[in-house]
Amino acid sequence: MNAEQIWELFFPPRCLLCGEILAIGQGKLCSDCQMEVQRREGRLLFSPQTQQPEGLEAGFAVFYYEESKEAIWRFKFHGAYRMGEDFGRLMAEKAGKAGFLDLAKAQVVIPVPVHRQRLRLRGFNQAALLARPVAAVLKVPMSETLCRIRHTKAQMTLGDQQRQENVHHAFAVVRPEEVRDKRVLLIDDIYTTGATASSCALALRQAGASSVSVLALAAGAVRIR
Ligand SMILES: [Zn+2]
Repeated sequence: MNAEQIWELFFPPRCLLCGEILAIGQGKLCSDCQMEVQRREGRLLFSPQTQQPEGLEAGFAVFYYEESKEAIWRFKFHGAYRMGEDFGRLMAEKAGKAGFLDLAKAQVVIPVPVHRQRLRLRGFNQAALLARPVAAVLKVPMSETLCRIRHTKAQMTLGDQQRQENVHHAFAVVRPEEVRDKRVLLIDDIYTTGATASSCALALRQAGASSVSVLALAAGAVRIR
């Protein structure tokens, strides 16, 4: 029995989505969720052919927030590094199949940053855990040059107008040479109104990025103004 098998004896692997305990060697998802994920194609949130949030070119998400919120909660608050790896690979796979990666033509992958105060509290940036495997699949670099320069309230707690004000000028690029003249793929766990992604995109464009698209694990009800 190797170390991983012993670990799994005490902490049996759980399905990434529903949390059901899995038999050893069953994989990452229970059979129900496996079927559901295979069936799912993800969805294009917007593209150059539709109305886009300011600064953004195309957007794609794998899940609806409502159906995946428990899984995302586990991912965010239980320090689930393994989930980040698996979810990130799933994002790249679904985005590839749907043709979104051909639209985005990413040259660099950048996670939506969290403020360093929140990073200290949580220990990791969930978007960066997703971005790393996405970058690996795409074979492009991941850069953490985008920083959150203002502490912002959790977007979930705010209305539309407040969300925009909350993230306005909240981001800055530390090393512009990492994005200059490059097509950027922004990675986030949850996409809702697009206010955060849009604010990130504006900072990246200002630093010279030639385009910014966003790939999210889940999207809430999308309202584009
Ligand atoms: Zn399941």
